[in-house]
Amino acid sequence: MSRGPLLFKDIDTPGLAGLEVYRGLGGYEALAEVLAKKSPDDCIEVVKASGLRGRGGAGFPTGLKWSFVPKDTPKPKYLVCNADESEPGTFKDRELIEKNPHLLIEGMILAARAIGANVGYVYLRGEFAWIQRILDRAIAEATAAGLLGPSVAGTDFRLDLYTHLGAGAYICGEETALLSSLEGYRGQPRLKPPFPAVEGLYRCPTIVNNVETLMNVPGILANGAAWYRQWGTEKSPGTKIFSVSGPVKRPGNYELPLGVPLSTLLNEHCGGMRDGFRVKAVIPGGSSVPPLPASLLDTALDFESLNAAGTYLGSGGVIVLDDRTCIVDALWNITRFYRHESCGKCTPCREGTYWMAEVLERLERGEGRDSDIALLDEVADNILGKSFCPLGDAAAMPVMGAIRHFREEFEYHVTHRRCRVNRRREELDALRSAPAAAEVTA
Ligand code: SF4
Repeated sequence: MSRGPLLFKDIDTPGLAGLEVYRGLGGYEALAEVLAKKSPDDCIEVVKASGLRGRGGAGFPTGLKWSFVPKDTPKPKYLVCNADESEPGTFKDRELIEKNPHLLIEGMILAARAIGANVGYVYLRGEFAWIQRILDRAIAEATAAGLLGPSVAGTDFRLDLYTHLGAGAYICGEETALLSSLEGYRGQPRLKPPFPAVEGLYRCPTIVNNVETLMNVPGILANGAAWYRQWGTEKSPGTKIFSVSGPVKRPGNYELPLGVPLSTLLNEHCGGMRDGFRVKAVIPGGSSVPPLPASLLDTALDFESLNAAGTYLGSGGVIVLDDRTCIVDALWNITRFYRHESCGKCTPCREGTYWMAEVLERLERGEGRDSDIALLDEVADNILGKSFCPLGDAAAMPVMGAIRHFREEFEYHVTHRRCRVNRRREELDALRSAPAAAEVTA
């Protein structure tokens, strides 16, 4: 069964990771024609017109980003694929590369040609060693077939691709930290501007694009912007892969047109909640975005609708929290992650993530103080927009969103010195193990 209309259309075809099967399904078919008939500027204009926005989390328009690369520079230009995929709740890129590496290679060829890069890197998170091997095999196959190397598909365009394994740091998903790591330095963010499109890898113009973003490029350049716009909404065209985790019947990756309601994703595609569970909240874009309460499940999954609901599309990592999950506990878990992953370069994030984790632990242990909720909100507010890179915002936004939607649960921790939900969990478990009412009566 197909799990999506575009990138996931053939994803479960046996042998798709190999060149022969990929070609059998039409892969690389339009490459030579696009290279021969469309200039780099034409390609940028088509991608701009398609409305494709970055799928890694920030949602920046891809064609516009490409157009920032200076054309008259004597420096070499680079294309970097961000395959760091460290956002908790997100696991789409690894399935895409694992099962269909040639689609990424084809997307990188077209993107590199559009920006004038002759060298490209795929930066993979440290835990993706087996995916690196799959990708390396596909790159070797494509090189042997003349699709990479000195004469891509028989043209005078040269492209060499290399893979690079990180060391498992979340911060290396931030594009400037990724570039520092790729250069062999400690993975810490750099000041922007200058932006990487002007001064990136080795201080040369560099475009960093996410895996899913690049995989959309071959379809767009082969079929045109209008074709791509058949999916999605006016401002959020195309499809998005959602990684759904939590107690739904069928968790996993689903590719759907942007704008589909969250409830449709959960009920129709994921089969609804597992028996005995009810939705309490959904974190729709990976752990760094504010949660949505169950009352907002009809929110459309696109950039604008989620912003209007006070959260973000992010990476599309949809984390479902059930009614037996303590929001304070879930938040403590998330905040410990950001405390651990903070690179320590700037004070608001380094100190703030530590203090948020301390206060959340205090609440969970039943030692919360009357002032703790206001303190949490204040610390988060002092991180938001005041940190050096987006990790600070990523740590602050879930805390502020959870307090906004679930304040009474925080208050319960302070006034009762215990968790309301844990008590419910005990009650529910007792209810399940109790004999049925009919038996009792008999
Ligand atoms: Fe490092 Fe956090 Fe500051 Fe980013 S916000 S530079 S991760 S300390």
